[in-house]
Amino acid sequence: MLDLFIKSFVFNAFMENTYVVYDEEGNTAIFDPGCYEKEEEKALEMFIEQHGLKVQALYNTHCHIDHVLGNEFVKRRWKVGLQIHAVELPYLEAVKSYAGNYGFHGYQPAEPNSFIKEGSSISIGKHQLQILFAPGHAPGHVLFYDAAGDQCLVGDVIFKGSIGRTDLPGGDFDTLIKSIKTQLFSLPDHTRLYPGHGEPTTVGFEKEYNPFCGRNAGFES
Ligand SMILES: [Zn+2]
Repeated sequence: MLDLFIKSFVFNAFMENTYVVYDEEGNTAIFDPGCYEKEEEKALEMFIEQHGLKVQALYNTHCHIDHVLGNEFVKRRWKVGLQIHAVELPYLEAVKSYAGNYGFHGYQPAEPNSFIKEGSSISIGKHQLQILFAPGHAPGHVLFYDAAGDQCLVGDVIFKGSIGRTDLPGGDFDTLIKSIKTQLFSLPDHTRLYPGHGEPTTVGFEKEYNPFCGRNAGFES
């Protein structure tokens, strides 16, 4: 069995990474669709069509505005249900009250259809992705870990050389560091991490170099 393929798009003013994850048979899940402009929707649609992908599921790692702008489009276009962690529900609902403040006057809210829970897993074709719970940046933040493929979608928990902000509602710095150390850093060093912003990294790289949670975190250089 081949590894899952991961295609990323950078969408909306927050430069958010939207991920299309699919197997060799075209079984596909979309994570954190941030598409907002028509051209962004078109780019996503064209990729799906050109690769003959069958979109079967839609997930959010967490429900900050930049990760949910395209939920309604994906639900409607491919007739899939939205799945989030239940703790994120009030934060998803809050987006409609503040979207306009960020200039997203055309934001179309989308309701979740079911909830995902840590300790369980989701499947894409024959591939299983474990759901890990990693609060701190957002209180119901989850990671999707493909153990067989040594890769993990990490949302805004960690970035290459940085971590997610913790000053938004429900955020907490100590909780985030604990999530990273107990959930992410227990994965093999060679695990590739696909964050919500910026380029991919690995567990080993962040353990070594991340200034917030790596080996030398807290030391003055
Ligand atoms: Zn976020």
